[in-house]
Amino acid sequence: MSENNTFSTVRRGAVQHWSRTLIPTTRDAPADAELPSHIFLTRAGYIRRVGAGIYDYLPLAKRVLTKIETIIREEMNAAGATELLVPHLVPIELYAGTKRDQEYGDLLFKLEDRHGRLAALGPTHEEIITEMLKGSVTSYKQLPLNVYQIQTKFRDEFRPRAGLLRGREFIMKDAYSFHLEIDGTAGLNATYDAMYQAYVNIFTRCGLDFSVVEAESGPIGGSASHEFMVNCETGEDTIMICPESGYAANVEKCEIGDRPWSFDTDPTEPLKTHHTPGMPGIDAVAEFLGTTPAGMLKTIVMQPAERSEDKPRWVLAVVRGDHDVNEGKVRDAVGFAVELGDEAEAKAAGFAIGYVSPRMVFKAPDTVMVIDPDAVNGGAWATGSDKPDHHDTGFNWKRDLPELLPEGPDNTCFGCSVKVADIRNAVPGDPSPRAAGATLEARRGIEVGHIFKLGTKYSDAFDFAILDQDQKRRAVIMGCYGIGVSRTMAACVEMSHDDNGIIWPTPVAPYHVLITLIKPEDEATRSAAKSIADSLSAAGVDVLIDDRKERPGVKFKDADLIGIPVRITIGPKTLEQGGAELKHRRDPDRPGITPMDDVPGACMSLLLG
Ligand code: ATP
Ligand code: MG
Repeated sequence: MSENNTFSTVRRGAVQHWSRTLIPTTRDAPADAELPSHIFLTRAGYIRRVGAGIYDYLPLAKRVLTKIETIIREEMNAAGATELLVPHLVPIELYAGTKRDQEYGDLLFKLEDRHGRLAALGPTHEEIITEMLKGSVTSYKQLPLNVYQIQTKFRDEFRPRAGLLRGREFIMKDAYSFHLEIDGTAGLNATYDAMYQAYVNIFTRCGLDFSVVEAESGPIGGSASHEFMVNCETGEDTIMICPESGYAANVEKCEIGDRPWSFDTDPTEPLKTHHTPGMPGIDAVAEFLGTTPAGMLKTIVMQPAERSEDKPRWVLAVVRGDHDVNEGKVRDAVGFAVELGDEAEAKAAGFAIGYVSPRMVFKAPDTVMVIDPDAVNGGAWATGSDKPDHHDTGFNWKRDLPELLPEGPDNTCFGCSVKVADIRNAVPGDPSPRAAGATLEARRGIEVGHIFKLGTKYSDAFDFAILDQDQKRRAVIMGCYGIGVSRTMAACVEMSHDDNGIIWPTPVAPYHVLITLIKPEDEATRSAAKSIADSLSAAGVDVLIDDRKERPGVKFKDADLIGIPVRITIGPKTLEQGGAELKHRRDPDRPGITPMDDVPGACMSLLLG
């Protein structure tokens, strides 16, 4: 990690006056604001809502963003990445090549120019960068290459949320690396590891408390992916951790330890069919049947994301009623990407959607089934009846699907059509996949960074292949690495605030020191403030002087709200006592007077302490 260069005598700190900048603090939080970052960034005059998920960054916010970006640039440059900038406006054909114009769906902002040509506002830039590199990289000697940019991105999020945490226009750092090898010093793995370390450095330097978690890598599967999560109860993402082994993964990716299972369990109830019309959800059905969701089987009809001759037509995923099917795990279990089955086609194939039972695996043509271990054990299950508006109770695997028994119990294919495998999202209390006897716990987090081994998805789509040392043409292997810059700013506030406002981690604070003048019209007060500000500025400290003609109470409230780490209060009274009052934003007490000559030094120790 590079040295702490928050302060440097080469760098001159800012000295600015509140009355000459724009910090419109207000008492009122936005009506829709629930989270601290949204409330405080708005009330403290950092951001202003322009439209749903669209914000002005006022001067204080701009200063924080610049500091975060500087830390990112320093660490990316030190890790060998190089900065460039590509357009926001991307011709739609580029996204069509990777089918992402469809994959992104409504998330993509599309527009038409005066000639009727379609373009998209970039939500991320794999396509345009891959195409650019294809035009300029022709030899293996030019690889590896890792390029990045810091730029506004556009995503028409369905539910923009919580101010900067989920915007429709937001700032991202995105990097893309290109290789011919996976291993070795020029390979993808080496760059991935360097980015991993750069991200650890970046978020540490931003003063964030974060976890690195294993993440689901999407439809390409198999490849590695990590998310950087700020640990925070207000986070949208669920992180599963094993305190015993240190294993951490997001809930989509999280593996679950061994869960013994067997089809060889005797029935405890007769099979009985019930008429259950128009019940709104699994809870209502369970109650009607005199059971709980945990006593029910949920059978989801899925299909291969891309059809082909060698794949079955249908995939049934069976989990316990209180569990959620995990598409990525189903994909890993069956060996190809899956998606929710098309309802009309599924009905035509005989599936009573909403009332499907595992028996369909032997009734519907060309169907395979994966069952989660927790959905196997048990003498009597409630399940759909395979006809609309009906459910069964007392379903027993051994009695009602005896075909399964002869080949069990192991989790390989039963005649290749049935398999038992972990196919659900982990929940707290599940066995840890890494430490015998330990259980998983859930935490909340905010995703601020994401690194990915992409493989050849984009280079294949753009036919980006080059000659290697042996004159063989090979597809270029890619990685991509994102950081939500504006989200990181909001995450700092989520993590660090109190009832009165923001408490910035020093490295990203808009100013390091706020000098509050008690009587700004007093000449001696102004000149004392100036001399402290000058000496702090020379030491690389950014200073804001609150010279407004406001009551001290108002200024102190605003000081707490905007969250500058150190406050110096100067007025005729403190000067009479020979100095100024120093206070750290995070400490509730106000210590006594510091003699004037000691103020800059004392200030530095508070900042560095
Ligand atoms: P999410 O799961 O939160 O929607 P994502 O996984 O789609 O995010 P990526 O494509 O991985 O996002 O983008 C890289 C980074 O950009 C994310 O780690 C996140 O910090 C940030 N980011 C993504 N979407 C938004 C958004 N709508 N507003 C602010 N930051 C965002
Ligand atoms: Mg992500």
